[in-house]
Formats: sequence, structure tokens, C-alpha cells
Amino acid sequence: MQRVLIRDVPSQIGKEVFLQGWVSVRRDHGKLVFLDVRDRSGSVQVVILPNHLESCVAVQDVRNETIISLIGKVNERPVNAKKEGELTGGVEIEALELKILAKGNEELPIDVSPVELDVNLDTLLNNRTVSLRHRKVQAIFKLYSLLLAGYDQACRNEEFLEIKTPKILSSATEGGANFFKIKYFDREAYLAQSPQFYKQAGATTFERVFEIGSVFRAEPHFTSRHVNEYVGLDGEMAFIDGVEDVMAMLEKILFATFASFGEAGQKELDCYLEHFPPQVAIPRIRLSDALQILEKEYGKKVENEDIDGEGERMMSEYVFKTYGSDFVFLTHYPAALRPFYSMPSADGKYTETFDLLFRGVEIASGGQRIHEYQMLIDSIRHKGLDPVQFQDYLNVFRYGAPAHGGWGLGSERIIQKLLGLGSIKEALLYPRDVKRLTP
Ligand code: ATP
Ligand code: MG
Repeated sequence: MQRVLIRDVPSQIGKEVFLQGWVSVRRDHGKLVFLDVRDRSGSVQVVILPNHLESCVAVQDVRNETIISLIGKVNERPVNAKKEGELTGGVEIEALELKILAKGNEELPIDVSPVELDVNLDTLLNNRTVSLRHRKVQAIFKLYSLLLAGYDQACRNEEFLEIKTPKILSSATEGGANFFKIKYFDREAYLAQSPQFYKQAGATTFERVFEIGSVFRAEPHFTSRHVNEYVGLDGEMAFIDGVEDVMAMLEKILFATFASFGEAGQKELDCYLEHFPPQVAIPRIRLSDALQILEKEYGKKVENEDIDGEGERMMSEYVFKTYGSDFVFLTHYPAALRPFYSMPSADGKYTETFDLLFRGVEIASGGQRIHEYQMLIDSIRHKGLDPVQFQDYLNVFRYGAPAHGGWGLGSERIIQKLLGLGSIKEALLYPRDVKRLTP
């Protein structure tokens, strides 16, 4: 018999179906046994009646999370018996035959049957293969998959070419200290902390490129928004008039990505009682103005003309209150805070750059890049770096390059904020942080 997916069961009333899946919950009511069975498409209630116990004798050994197959008759359920929640409504399977396909050797380390998984972050991550069976945990990665597909399609719709750039680099080019050093045969190499240089090379030849790729950061963070390996959604585009073109494109791609989630995404958000951000035009606020707003509205004094995590949260709150937007672009960061490749503003003090905040955290940084060879050399020197160390990068501009800019967007922070997760680590299957290198 061919397998039927649980979502298709309601169209099979009166017929026999063959199902495979996990038992989420087993309930015994006198002589009746009820199983909530799930597969990748949904969940349905199965009942084992006393007169089928012989052909379903294996049910004696069925526990929560046992993996089974069964043949059963699809019955309509009386309206008042319809259960709330995610069970495929309106139908129940009367089991005729039941087999155990696999069961654990041991008791489960955590109980994944309650609607709310009540474990701390370490337990959740240490027992990943089990916690991933929980509906709400699965929702995270179903939404994540939609994000990757949606971003990919949105970029393609804007004629961005997908590229993959090397993650093993010969030198810690951007001059930062946040690189992981690795052994590369008889040399040293570094793990890429952004695809910056390669995506610029891409934009100056293909006009528009994007990459979905791993990013490595050797920063000893202990926050709810940092991990040491994450997946960046990068984009870079040429023939721009200025940074405004970059922000407009990022805004368009972001909203198109969310729109692509459709009903499938809404289903996952519903698990968390969350909603998509309203598609309101994203306000652009100069960083210096934002700092004034913080002082005026929240009495927050700011040093070094920079904004910290608390300031970002307050700014998001202010913008939501004032403009009804879950996003805000903060623009024109001081040159001292930005990398050497940032295009300076006319006054030389600020840069044509931005950060994008979403519900209180930065999810993207971007800007216009310097595309003029000599200006770039001067900027490298100005930062106290040696242009000789940047020969391969400078070659991108040596023979002429169009004006361009782009962004680096963190995929996991988007999911964290969409679902209101306490930690970004919940949004990675197997997160890497200062302490955690397994599972
Ligand atoms: P932050 O100031 O929050 O540490 P950043 O400015 O160092 O971030 P960028 O280099 O601008 O980060 O990286 C672009 C985007 O990548 C960020 O806006 C964020 O969404 C994501 N990102 C950066 N660092 C991390 C990290 N350690 N863990 C998860 N995501 C990150
Ligand atoms: Mg940033």
C-alpha cells in the first residue's frame, strides 16, 4: 500500500490509508488507546479499538516518540469531538494494523509531548536530536527554510546572480581581530568573517550578486544575539547613485522575502502567536539624529557617537510608536566606526552607510563602497593599514569599477526576531558559541 501523508487524510473519509510517522502522545482511556501521530505534513488522532487489538498488538510497546506504521480507516469525527490545535481536524483514524518501525533504546532525555517545551537552552541544545521533534522547535526551521528560499527568489527576481565565495582566506584582510586562524597544509589561513571583498568583485563584474553563506566570527560574545558561526544573506549591486539605492533594494528584497512565506509561514508563526512585520515604508534616520532622539525621549546619553544594544532597542520602540514600522535604517555612521572601504559622505566625517534594525536588534549593515582606486588606497592608509596587504582586493579597482554598494544580513537574527526567541542559538540547528562546539 502506498503511504498517505497526514495532510491528505481528510480527503480519504471512509477509505483505508497507510501512514508512517511518530507517536507524539499516547493516551489510554479504559480499553481504548489513542495516539497522536505526526509526519512531516501534520498530525492526526489514531484510535485502537478493543476489537482490533489482535492485529495492533504492537501498540502495547508504543510510547511517546515511537516510530510506527499503520493501516487504518479514516472516520469523520463528531463535531463536538474535534480537538483544538494542530491535529488534522475533523477526522480520526481507526487503526486496523499497527507496526513499530523503530523505538528508542532508552527513555527520552526530555519530554517533547507538551505544547510548550519546558527546558533550558543548554538542555534544548545538548539533546538536539530529541528537541527537534517538538512542534515549536520544528516551526523555527520550517520558517528558516522559507527564509532561505524567499531571499533567494527575491534576489533572483531583481536579477541578482547567486555566487558562492571561498571561506578559507590567506590573510585576515579587514584588519580585524575577529578571525579564526586555521592550519592550511604548511601555512596559516583564516576563516572568512564576511564575503565582503569577493562580493564586491562580483558586483563590479556581474552588476548584481548575492550569496547565502557561512560567516565565522572569533568574537567571545555572551549575548542572546551572537554566535560564532552564522549564515549571512549578502547582496551587492553596481551602478548605484548612492546609498539610498542600496537601502531601497534591501527593503524591497526583505519585504518580498516575507511576502513569499505565505500561508506556510503564517502556520509556523501561529505556533508562536507571532505576526509578520507590517509592510510599512522603513524610516531612514541619521545616526546623529537618532542619538538626539534617545537623549530627548529616553534621557540616554551616548558616547563616541555610537549606539549600543540598549539604544537600538529604544530606537526600535520609538520608531514603532512614531511610524508603525518594525524596522528602521540608521544612516551616516561616523567614519571612525566603519571599515576602510566605506564611502565617506561629502563632509568626510560621516559615511554613506547604514544599519538596519528589526524589533530592537541590528539585522543588517551596509552602505556604498569606495570604488575609486586611489581613494581606496588613501582610506586604507588613513585607517593605519598597509595597502601592500590588500593587493588582491585593490586589483578589483585597478582596472576601473562602477559605483556600488550592498549589505550583509544575518539570517538567524531575522528568525529570532520573527518568532520572538529568547536567544539566537535557538535559531541554529547546531550553534557554535564560545563554549559550545558540540553536538
Ligand atoms: P553586532 O554589532 O551586532 O555585533 P556587527 O556589526 O559586528 O554586529 P556585521 O559585521 O555588520 O555585524 O554583520 C552583518 C550582519 O550579520 C549583522 O547585522 C547581523 O545580522 C549578522 N551578524 C553579525 N555578527 C553576528 C554574530 N556574531 N552572530 C549572529 N549574527 C551576526
Ligand atoms: Mg554591523
